[in-house]
Amino acid sequence: MGRPLTLVGGAQQAVRVHDLVKAPANTPEARRRQASWDATRPATVYTTPEMMPDGTPCTAATVILRTKGCHWWWSSGCTFCGYFNDTRDDVTSDDLHAQWAWATRKLEGFAGASMVKVYTSGSLFEDREIPVEFQQHVLEDCAKRGLHLIVESRTEQLTPEKLAWAASIHSDLTVAIGLEAYDDEVLRFHVNKGFSVRSYDKAVAALKDANIRVKAYLMFKPPFMSEADALDHIVTWIAAIAKDADEISINPMNIQGGTVIDRLHRARQYRPPWLWSLVEMIRRSHVVVHPDGGVNGDADQVSRLIVHPTAGGRIRGAHNCGSCDADVVAAIERYAVSGDLLEFEGLSCPCEAEWSCELDLERRLPVPLGLSAPRRGPPMDRLRAP
Ligand code: SF4
Ligand SMILES: [Zn+2]
Repeated sequence: MGRPLTLVGGAQQAVRVHDLVKAPANTPEARRRQASWDATRPATVYTTPEMMPDGTPCTAATVILRTKGCHWWWSSGCTFCGYFNDTRDDVTSDDLHAQWAWATRKLEGFAGASMVKVYTSGSLFEDREIPVEFQQHVLEDCAKRGLHLIVESRTEQLTPEKLAWAASIHSDLTVAIGLEAYDDEVLRFHVNKGFSVRSYDKAVAALKDANIRVKAYLMFKPPFMSEADALDHIVTWIAAIAKDADEISINPMNIQGGTVIDRLHRARQYRPPWLWSLVEMIRRSHVVVHPDGGVNGDADQVSRLIVHPTAGGRIRGAHNCGSCDADVVAAIERYAVSGDLLEFEGLSCPCEAEWSCELDLERRLPVPLGLSAPRRGPPMDRLRAP
């Protein structure tokens, strides 16, 4: 029998967070699921409306490749990352080429698209995850087709040498970094990110030197943090990175299966963020990205602030009371495009008072896990729920 996944209890040795993170990827069910993926097909391919770096509207193709996953996950892993669910250990270079060819056929040679996002459940420029000749193939193909390319990467791969090599093949490039938090304590103890603020700063400097665009993801409400703390922190992180990041994309926590945050959520020790907090974050940060009160595309734009509440309105995503969620999510999505605070004009719901009261209480009584009720709905129903 395997070691029980208890943090405390009996005379047994406490289980390390590392084991908690890794264990779900190794259960027979997870192994079966991983083996069920077809290694010659990408995980997903789709197109969406987007904006080019100069602000013109365009169509973007997204290709999510089926890969071996993230090397940081192999040895540890971030507390919220469920990408391991979509990976296969034995994906070869031939498989990746077959996936790329399949995606190209499916998207009719990227007809009508000006931008392509190539995501790998890890870092495209990490040689242990993705063979170098496949990295080169993607860069060359996008250069040949004149597509603006967006890839994701951790910081340690973004060395001046690697970036000079990439830019020499295709310079119309944005690198998106999952920074999550501009705070070493949060990176270490809340996110288990495995890199520091310093390494992010170094990576950004190298990207700037190579003339490559920078996109940074920040996580709204990492684990072990109250709603009020999450809000106050993220506003300072946005201000800290806005000058150097061309785009800041906020990911409000959504609960992915088999992760540490999933265990906390199931144990009712974590509530995904309120949508009202996201609205408040945007209101407080707008002056940072638009110091003169402009909208997206105006001359005062320091950075573009994008917020996409994945699973917005659902229990495992950012949510409010259930009745106003769709309207608030729609307003947030509209702001991501327009950059106009008027999108929030007239939005209101009785649950806003409950949210505001929770924040007020959390600032007065700062307990680490916060005071938010872990589930929405009438209090008596919540008490009766198993
Ligand atoms: S670095 Fe990215 S892909 Fe890797 S474990 Fe963390 S969130 Fe997941
Ligand atoms: Zn409401």
